[in-house]
Amino acid sequence: SAGGQPMIEIAGISKHFGQFRALNNVSLQVQRGEVMMIIGPSGSGKSTLLRCINHLEVPDSGRVAVDGTPVDNNERHINAVRAEVGMVFQRFELFPHLTVLDNICLAQQKVRKRSRQESQRVARELLEKVGIPEQAAKHPPQLSGGQQQRVAIARALAMQPKVMLFDEPTSALDPEMIKEVLDVMLDLAREGMTMVVVSHEMGFARNAAHKVVFMDQGTIVEQGAPDVVFTNPQHERTKLFLSRIL
Ligand code: ADP
Ligand code: MG
Repeated sequence: SAGGQPMIEIAGISKHFGQFRALNNVSLQVQRGEVMMIIGPSGSGKSTLLRCINHLEVPDSGRVAVDGTPVDNNERHINAVRAEVGMVFQRFELFPHLTVLDNICLAQQKVRKRSRQESQRVARELLEKVGIPEQAAKHPPQLSGGQQQRVAIARALAMQPKVMLFDEPTSALDPEMIKEVLDVMLDLAREGMTMVVVSHEMGFARNAAHKVVFMDQGTIVEQGAPDVVFTNPQHERTKLFLSRIL
């Protein structure tokens, strides 16, 4: 596909839950290799926006496309997009009754149709990459939160995604485990992965993000380089929010 085409294109999407407007005419583009950080108060629509990218939520109006594939109700499109977009959640959502290795192998075998042997080879390589090769035979409940989140990242990477979405990946972690997860994310960013990260980890934003997007009440209030948004926000709502979290 064309180099100039954005990896993610969101054009005027809105989403209601009953009378509540979670997203109100949101447009956003994520370029190839871009690391975008989304910040904003609880309930501002950050998770809903992420979930619209891989069809976990369906917008009421507007359009989403990933690498040129429309994210609509066509099953072929949905499968293509889900195979290209990895997602990491606040709560790791691993299968507790499967080993770490099998957690990373499952989708590879089911979706990618890889052999057991090949998927295990990929899984071991990724456990090495996220720094926990010795945990392969354990079950998730035996691991620390930081280790479980790194398994979840490895599981997503095993599908060779073009894009990685992170929804508050460190908010369920004890402070001493946050860095080990952020370090893995920083490596990914430096390798050129396209990433959208909902998080208030300002260190990560300054080190890795190309762009920071501030959302409030279902809209994008402002976006720009981390330096600019953090040190010279243009809107009162952004200033107020930043004064609470910085
Ligand atoms: P954020 O991630 O910024 O905290 P969300 O996108 O999760 O915000 O939610 C935005 C608003 O939409 C919240 O007020 C939430 O209660 C509401 N909401 C989200 N998902 C649902 C749902 N499935 N049903 C009803 N309301 C929802
Ligand atoms: Mg959320």
